[in-house]
Amino acid sequence: MTKQPWQTAGRQRLLTRKCTMSIPSATRSRWSTITPGPVPDLRDYDLIAVSDSGGADSRAALHVTAAEARRVQVFDRVHTYHASLGPLEWPAAELRGRRYLSTGEQAALHSLSYGVPPQRHIEVQRTVAHAAGEFVPYSLLTFVAERGMWPAKGAAQYCTSDWKTALIFAAWTSVVSQLRRRLGRAVRILNVLGIRAEESPSRAGRSSYRCLVTSTNGARHVDEWLPIHGWPKPQVRELSGCRGLFHHWTYDSEPGARDWAGSSRCSCSICILASLRDLLLNSRRRPRLANLYALVEQEIGHRFKRDRSLAEIIELSRAPDAPPPGIVLPDSGPDFIAIERAVRKALKHPAASGLAVRTADSVTSQEGGCLECHGPQT
Ligand code: SF4
Repeated sequence: MTKQPWQTAGRQRLLTRKCTMSIPSATRSRWSTITPGPVPDLRDYDLIAVSDSGGADSRAALHVTAAEARRVQVFDRVHTYHASLGPLEWPAAELRGRRYLSTGEQAALHSLSYGVPPQRHIEVQRTVAHAAGEFVPYSLLTFVAERGMWPAKGAAQYCTSDWKTALIFAAWTSVVSQLRRRLGRAVRILNVLGIRAEESPSRAGRSSYRCLVTSTNGARHVDEWLPIHGWPKPQVRELSGCRGLFHHWTYDSEPGARDWAGSSRCSCSICILASLRDLLLNSRRRPRLANLYALVEQEIGHRFKRDRSLAEIIELSRAPDAPPPGIVLPDSGPDFIAIERAVRKALKHPAASGLAVRTADSVTSQEGGCLECHGPQT
């Protein structure tokens, strides 16, 4: 196969460690990747599903995927998906009369900039049936208040599995049903993620192309591709400005600065996996949200992080040497107020929603994983 410009030496080296060997098609099992070999041939897939958190790594993964899909003339199979955490992820910001995009808007802009039509960009959000019968957004923080326990890295990372991965996988269903009727066989899906090896040892050990065995069934075969697995951070950052598309404002010291001196990740503003610096900075940027998290922590009696409470983090964020916020968001919009109300109600009546309260033993992460959900823990 001709080496593409995005196939860096580092990536090639990592790809050789992948699990799937080249097996003659007659003997290949349904658990092998569809394309034999270390990289997918995009022509082998019916649906090329790129998960986009709105962050820089997602954009890089889309950049590579879009170029390759165009090269082999299957760009019409590319769809983009954003799993929204609602007001818990970064909202739009206004500074000096200019508006900067929310993470959901940023993901939609990525998609549009690479030529994916709006009907092939899908944003999903978890909902719950309201008493009146209609479905309303159901926030992760409300669930924590009901459950009485924060998610944690690893098996108890239900925030990733239940609020991101499961929603995106479910969102494929309508496309899968249509394709299955037309094709008369299991639909071949390539799940594309912007995960990089240098982010953590567990990510480094992850194969860049593999079959997602537990997501594969008679109706669909799901493979996962990490097209920027071998990319170092500077390579991702070099893309900012390409196609007139810059990175999300939260990466900067203040919206519009374009200096990468802000949050290191574009994810939930207050994330269980965030570094201490990010938590200090983000608590200052969103004090009302941080206080709501601290209220939940206090009421449920369970520390936000094993080694540090959110109350301590907020206290530390007031120190003179804490990172300057660059912008402070009011969090006064209707979506935020609705979440605040739901969380307070859940704290008073933990079982009010009728959802089962689960223990750490009963929740497991899905194997697909999501994009910005594997940050450093310091
Ligand atoms: S960004 Fe953090 S808190 Fe949000 S879903 Fe991912 S791991 Fe969980």
